[in-house]
Amino acid sequence: MATAVAERPAPRTASSPTRLKITEIFLSLQGESASVGWPTVFVRLTGCPLRCQYCDTAYAFHGGAWHEQASVIEQVASHGVSHVCVTGGEPLAQKACFPLLTALCDAGYIVSLETSGALDVSSVDPRVVKVLDIKTPGSAEVSRNLWTNIQHLSAQDQIKFVLCDRSDYDWARQILAEHDLAARCTVLFSPSQEQLPAGDLADWIIADKLPVRFQLQLHKILWGGERGR
Ligand code: SF4
Repeated sequence: MATAVAERPAPRTASSPTRLKITEIFLSLQGESASVGWPTVFVRLTGCPLRCQYCDTAYAFHGGAWHEQASVIEQVASHGVSHVCVTGGEPLAQKACFPLLTALCDAGYIVSLETSGALDVSSVDPRVVKVLDIKTPGSAEVSRNLWTNIQHLSAQDQIKFVLCDRSDYDWARQILAEHDLAARCTVLFSPSQEQLPAGDLADWIIADKLPVRFQLQLHKILWGGERGR
C-alpha cells in the first residue's frame, strides 16, 4: 500500500473527445463492491486529482498510454466476460470516460464505475453502477467530497467508506445517519489495510447494528495487492 503523498498533477487535455489515457486493462475477479467475485475486466484510467494517504494505485497517477475508445472496447471484448469495471485513478477526471461508459453499456456489458466522489457523477449513463467513495477525515481528502453527488445515486449504486481508525468510523456513522444513506443505496464499510484491523471494524458494525455491508478487498486476500490482479 502506497503512503507517499505526491504532488498534485497539472490538468491534462486530450485532442480527441473519445481518446483516453489508460494505465492498464486486465481480467481479474471483482474484489470489492456488491459485485465481488465476478470475473471482471478492469479498465484503469490514468490520473487522479486527489491524494488519499492510503492510496494503493498511485502508479496510475502518471504515465499510461493514449487509446481510442474503439481500441478500449476491443481489448475489453477480447477477455470474453460480461462485467466491466472502469476505475482509476479517478476515471471521471477524463471527459472521454463518459462516452466510454455509455459505449460499454451499449455493447451489452454490466458496467460499474469506481469514483472518488469528488467529481460530478450527474452525467454518468444511468445504466452504469456507480460505486462512489465518501472520503473520510483519515483519508486526508475529506474536503474533496462533492456532497451533491448523493442525490444522483439510485438503488443499484453503492457508497463506499474506507475507514482508517475509530474516529473515521464515528464520522462515517454520523454521515450515514445525517444523509440517510442506507435508504438510498447499499453502503459499504471497508478497513484501510494496515491501518484498521478488519476484526475491529466488524465488531463495531455488529455492536451498532449498522445498516452497512462490511467488506474486505478480495483481490488483496488472494494476491496481496499485486498489480494487475
Ligand atoms: S481517489 Fe482513489 S486513486 Fe485517487 S488518490 Fe484517492 S484512493 Fe488513490
